Amino acid sequence: MTKTIKNVICTFCGTLCDDLEVDVTDDGKKILQVRNACAIGAEKYLHVGNPGRVVVPRMRQADGTYKDISYDEAIDFTAKTLLKAKKPLFYGWSSTNCEAISAGNVLAEKTGGVIDNCATVCHGSSLLAIQDTGVPSCTLGEVKNRADRIIFWGCNPAHAHPRHMSRYSIFPRGFFTAKGQKGRKIICVDCRETDTAKVADTFVRIKQSYDYEIIDAFRTVLRGEEIPAEVGGVPAEKIKEVIEILKSGRFVTLFFGMGLTHTLGRNHNIDEAINFIRDLNDYTKAVLIAMRGHYNVTGAGQVLGWQYGYPFACDLSRLTMARHNPGETTSVDLLVRHEVDACVVIASDLAAHFPFEATRVMASIPTITIDPHISMSTELSDLHIPVAIVGVEVGGCCYRMDNVPIETRKCVDAPEGVLEDEELFNRITKRVDEILAENGVKDASEYLAKLEQET
Ligand code: SF4
Repeated sequence: MTKTIKNVICTFCGTLCDDLEVDVTDDGKKILQVRNACAIGAEKYLHVGNPGRVVVPRMRQADGTYKDISYDEAIDFTAKTLLKAKKPLFYGWSSTNCEAISAGNVLAEKTGGVIDNCATVCHGSSLLAIQDTGVPSCTLGEVKNRADRIIFWGCNPAHAHPRHMSRYSIFPRGFFTAKGQKGRKIICVDCRETDTAKVADTFVRIKQSYDYEIIDAFRTVLRGEEIPAEVGGVPAEKIKEVIEILKSGRFVTLFFGMGLTHTLGRNHNIDEAINFIRDLNDYTKAVLIAMRGHYNVTGAGQVLGWQYGYPFACDLSRLTMARHNPGETTSVDLLVRHEVDACVVIASDLAAHFPFEATRVMASIPTITIDPHISMSTELSDLHIPVAIVGVEVGGCCYRMDNVPIETRKCVDAPEGVLEDEELFNRITKRVDEILAENGVKDASEYLAKLEQET
């Protein structure tokens, strides 16, 4: 016997598709089939019962092998490691729910750590620009129902967000977009011809890292002024043609990805893109939306934003107030300058994405990785604590790329004994409180001072 769970939220990419149907066994233990998801989304659900799954914490031994330990031992080790550190780094958070992020923030506060999320190496520059400039934006539902001019700039949803185009941006028929794709004009700006560029009506191939100059040229043309015959590899005629297409639309949406946030100019590219969209609002309605990758990287920024005022790179080591200074309090910089002396990697894979030197430092300091799966980070850590998979084995709030909060759903039970992220963080925090009380000190700095006196 099977049962079908409808309206399941896919917790893979920032599109957070909310129409999956998942067939599970009657006892709620095994996923049998997934409908409506794209290939990468379906894979997430179908490999949950993988026989190689880690279901107990693993502590690395001196000879490099791993030894299974209990959750109590893992929690005790983590609490003591964090209290012994002067400045622990808590990095990741993009693939867990907001409840866990909030619980983790309490732990980071108590242990005087730095809390940072994946935005630090992806859309951090977008967040800086948005804080500096503000952002004219909307929801993906508005895009589906209203947008008739779509620009994809430095992003490739055909591969990274496979259902984005069918659910929101190119193909769907909406209230004011009844003709679907036929009623929309799609423009793709990129330095190479991606699969997204192949489905666009207009492809603008630019020279790599000339994004700022091209946006500037768009703004100049929009003001009716002259530009050089060629800007960033694009003929002036092409730039003028794009501006005419945009001005003739009723609702323009610019989706931008890391091809814009990671080329020369970084946050200034986004500043300029926001100002371009502002200018365009003199002629027609126009908005922009960042193409966020991990399913809750947006939520990680939201939770930090409402708790400390900054969406990433929050230094809580003063135990009184948060400091945020990209370049100083960002994870890569802290690691390569050896300014952190312990690390918790949670719901992301630091070792797979950070520069080699930062990863080398992470591997040389006490590191705990909290993740349902084995990853490059788990293999460089002293301790790997497995947890339940959000959106599959546990629900919770996650934010879609357009900042809409969505309550994800549990489909099957986690393997027996495996903890949820939120519960794990609450138990580590409780253990930290117990250790402080046992030592008769009120906070982490007093604990460190006591340790130093004793040695
Ligand atoms: S587009 Fe993203 S959220 Fe939607 S099914 Fe695919 S992986 Fe999941």
